[in-house]
Amino acid sequence: MVSAYAAALQDTGVDVSILMPAYPAALARAVDVTPVARMTGLPGGDARLLRARMPDSGVTVLLLQMDHLFAREGLYRDPQGRDYLDNLTRFASLAAAATRVARGVRNLKRPDIVHAHDWHAGLTPLYMRLAGVAAKSVFTIHNLAFQGNHPLAMGGWIGVPPELLVPALSDERSIEYYGSLSMMKAGIVHADRVTTVSRRYAREILTPRFGHGMEGVLQAQAAKLSGIVNGIDTSMWNPAADAYIARPYSLDDTAGKQACKRDLQQAFGLTRDPFAPLVAIGSRLTQQKLADVVARALPVLLEQHPRLQFAILGEGERALEEALQELAAAWPGRVGVQIGYDERRAHMLHAGADILLHGSRFEPCGLTQLYAMRYGTVPVASRVGGLADTIVDYAPDQAREEDCATGFLFDGEDVHDVVHAVGRALAAFVRPSSWHALQRNAMSRDSSWEVSTSNYLALYADLVDARPALRDTRVRKTPGRSRTAAAGARQARRDEAFNAGAGEMVLSA
Ligand code: ADP
Repeated sequence: MVSAYAAALQDTGVDVSILMPAYPAALARAVDVTPVARMTGLPGGDARLLRARMPDSGVTVLLLQMDHLFAREGLYRDPQGRDYLDNLTRFASLAAAATRVARGVRNLKRPDIVHAHDWHAGLTPLYMRLAGVAAKSVFTIHNLAFQGNHPLAMGGWIGVPPELLVPALSDERSIEYYGSLSMMKAGIVHADRVTTVSRRYAREILTPRFGHGMEGVLQAQAAKLSGIVNGIDTSMWNPAADAYIARPYSLDDTAGKQACKRDLQQAFGLTRDPFAPLVAIGSRLTQQKLADVVARALPVLLEQHPRLQFAILGEGERALEEALQELAAAWPGRVGVQIGYDERRAHMLHAGADILLHGSRFEPCGLTQLYAMRYGTVPVASRVGGLADTIVDYAPDQAREEDCATGFLFDGEDVHDVVHAVGRALAAFVRPSSWHALQRNAMSRDSSWEVSTSNYLALYADLVDARPALRDTRVRKTPGRSRTAAAGARQARRDEAFNAGAGEMVLSA
């Protein structure tokens, strides 16, 4: 999200840099790498700060090089799936480095906004507050299920004052969380604004069902919480120009989708049947994604609908992977399963399928359904979070139902809920006019970053406007480069907002 969003911000003329650890794979792909600063005395020791450009967008990226912390095979977990024991030190170092950049480092521009993402960067708003930096902080929750919790006793080691480690009831600035120290909580409590990646998820996380224990903290901070849905990279995910798919197609000419369907059936060992409804599943195979329930729903659906086919791409919990592989063995020609993470096949999947089945117990935003819609693959998804915000449910009993529906939403987490929802989609699939309307609506949805970026810009502008000392002292320098007239008008409004409040650089940690 950060790389795509930073590119979109840059397109609007914002001077943006990304700060991230110098993971070996990131360092290998970065362009024009040059050392810019040394930092001593971070929680994990000394570091070199490298400046480079992102390989695709050219956005400036600052890489925090601490090989003893970041030059490892995994990012947050070892190859066996266990969290690295020193994650607190690793990401406290990242947050401390962000704070130093925000305070001012020679050779680097000082940001007006520091935008931190998820628990990994959660300590940044706290450190910024402790250091008294002028820059404003924004913290985005991408998934509240992962919180970066560690023993409270380690707080002193990473420079958190004792009064912020007391039981939370006695001090609302405390980052104590059920007897632990929580990096996620540090971000929520100390950031000037908190966002999450859909409006519905922003409301859901205030409740025990979706709050993962953080609902009380979030309720106390609700006044600064909002939801801004993610966009997708519409040039990479574009059925009209996608090198990974068998034949390009578009809203005006969908003939190529048939060739993509044949290709998908072949790649997943399915019977070549142009009229078989083909359902794709492409996601992590975990409980979050309802994969346990879906695995039990599949045999029921295969019995009920004799021509129905499934193409499944994913990886995750071993038992779920095995359950799906057993289904493929039991239903040859009708269920194809590929375990692993494969970008090319993900494109083939969205291009070739008729329906995407995407169950979720909770879904902060979800990208998969956005890709599917762009490729005319109609989603059947849980009515939660970003899925409910981005899919318009088809309701055949309503007049003019086909005017705007883009998919099917279902409530519940049981086998019969999934079976019923897929059944609804299959009933529409056999009515070509309904189905084509659904496909057209789905493909017409604007999932580009433009809308989300303008919402973030409005939020940043509010924050810098709240800093009178800065007003009129700095003016945006880079002219916007918008693609359309409408975007140009929006750009002009943003320019005005930025020139009024200043806003030279946004740093995403
Ligand atoms: P989450 O971040 O919870 O896994 P999202 O839908 O927000 O779910 O984003 C996951 C992204 O990873 C999507 O773009 C999805 O298509 C992609 N993805 C998930 N599993 C695979 C896989 N096995 N191969 C290729 N892409 C995958």
